[in-house]
Amino acid sequence: MKSTPARGMGMGRADEPTFDPTTLTTAQRDGEACAVCRKKWPRPRHRVGRLPDSSGVFACDDCAPALPAPRAKRAPRETATNAGAPAARPVPAGATVSG
Ligand SMILES: [Zn+2]
Repeated sequence: MKSTPARGMGMGRADEPTFDPTTLTTAQRDGEACAVCRKKWPRPRHRVGRLPDSSGVFACDDCAPALPAPRAKRAPRETATNAGAPAARPVPAGATVSG
């Protein structure tokens, strides 16, 4: 088993997303199964990315639109937690009920 040097997510020549082959089944690596839902039939036709060895990764009709388009320019956008500020509720400072 070859050890691929971990050089980060370097987009080499193609601007396709590179899939991690360890997360795919053999059928998915061979392009015989959808890379998302692992469905083998109908055979996935949409190339959605590539493997480090430049093999194609495919997705079925259902899953392909859900994946990021290979040619799309993705702007790194931070999704800040915009769920509103936590309601700081002042705790009543202890009722002075001392007998
Ligand atoms: Zn699928």
